[in-house]
Amino acid sequence: MKVAVLGAGVVGVTTAQALAAAGHEVTVIDRQPSPAMETSFANGGQISACHAAPWATPHMPFKAFSLMFRADAPLRINPLRWDPALWGWCLQFLANCTSRRFELNMERALRIAVYSRAMLKALRQRHNLKYDHSTGGLLYIYHDKEALAEAANLAARLGGHGLSQMVLDHDQVIAEEPALAQSTDPIVGGILSPEDETGDAHTFSEALAVVARQQNVTFQFDTHITGITAKDKYTVSIETTIGSMEADAFVVCLGSDTAPLLKPLGLSVPIYPAKGYSLTAEITDSEAAPRRSITDESRFMVITRMGNRIRAGGTAELAGWDRSINPNRMSPIIAGTRALFPHAADYSQIKPWAGLRPSTPDSVPIIGSTPYENLFLNTGHGTLGWTMACGSAQVITDLVSGRTPEIDISGVGLDRFTR
Ligand SMILES: Cc1cc2nc3c(=O)[nH]c(=O)nc-3n(C[C@H](O)[C@H](O)[C@H](O)COP(=O)(O)OP(=O)(O)OC[C@H]3O[C@@H](n4cnc5c(N)ncnc54)[C@H](O)[C@@H]3O)c2cc1C
Repeated sequence: MKVAVLGAGVVGVTTAQALAAAGHEVTVIDRQPSPAMETSFANGGQISACHAAPWATPHMPFKAFSLMFRADAPLRINPLRWDPALWGWCLQFLANCTSRRFELNMERALRIAVYSRAMLKALRQRHNLKYDHSTGGLLYIYHDKEALAEAANLAARLGGHGLSQMVLDHDQVIAEEPALAQSTDPIVGGILSPEDETGDAHTFSEALAVVARQQNVTFQFDTHITGITAKDKYTVSIETTIGSMEADAFVVCLGSDTAPLLKPLGLSVPIYPAKGYSLTAEITDSEAAPRRSITDESRFMVITRMGNRIRAGGTAELAGWDRSINPNRMSPIIAGTRALFPHAADYSQIKPWAGLRPSTPDSVPIIGSTPYENLFLNTGHGTLGWTMACGSAQVITDLVSGRTPEIDISGVGLDRFTR
């Protein structure tokens, strides 16, 4: 089949490669000059199935409201912003803030994340991909006993889904990550998730694009998709800055730009951008830098070692499609990294970055068909697009190819919002 993949972020590139491996003739279209230049460019680097707990929890409405008016809050919604897409999304988010929905959404996200981790390992071995990856597991740290107890409770529930995690006291945390002994923030304990991994999603996407080209995938960069149009009741074609295009199947991997492009088709896709920030810095003292990836839940941030660099990322702001870097939002990430690893890097020499997480109200991606027979979706991966990319790519490839995916995909399609 002739398949066009719309978007060359980590989700689009993995999708294109999986489709080509299944024997399809694939073209990828993206407005950027090379792969993974937008949200997949400088993310936190974690392949973290154990982080699949959705944002929408029973406590979240209170938490979000109490943070609403703080400019440096880790989670921020501007209450004065007039944006029907935002408020529609927020209402759907609130509907997911129940214990029952939390469990359901976590189980759905976990299915994709765990499958994806296995697919990534297989892909890495098959093609000998290098992307500053580490298989040393992830460490979650906590600054108060209540938060640690809550996390231990969640770890026990994840154990029920087959994910192993270990609860550590302060000394065990330092033994696992000696550089944290220099932290100026007190650490009461942590959770080690040994099977999770890390790596640079941008480097990975570039390496996989090389493999994809060898499998005859065509990358059409510097090309803006200006519209997706209904040809008739059942099929679509696309308009781009270099002309219109037809295909047997289109797979939308447009991240945060998905919803506005699909709206004219009458498809309401609840994906809203949650802006996050990261810093990347050269490590100046290896012993003072983390050996693996650290998640500091209270600061809503992750710090990951990528070869001789550290990457720290976090915060979320629901404020539309603006990608500019706001120093007020960047400074808590610099402060948090400096507090945990004061001597790891020269923090006056960081590379700042901002990206838009394509977020759904239930923290589950949207993978599957649409009412148009030649239009498929693989998008809305929110905080876990790198974690879920390889598995989502295989699932959508199976669906486009008319095969049954290897995992249960109930509850991950667009129809869960329309039913
Ligand atoms: C601060 C931060 C930290 C994160 N940390 C992690 C982490 O540790 N682990 C994890 O798993 N995930 C993490 N994420 C989330 C992850 O980065 C995203 O889920 C993932 O990058 C989404 O990939 P994507 O391919 O769907 O979107 P994108 O990478 O945004 O790709 C979409 C592509 O579509 C193209 N496009 C859009 N519109 C058009 C158009 N009209 N015409 C042509 N091309 C178009 C864009 O150019 C882009 O290349 C983090 C995100 C942020 C912001």
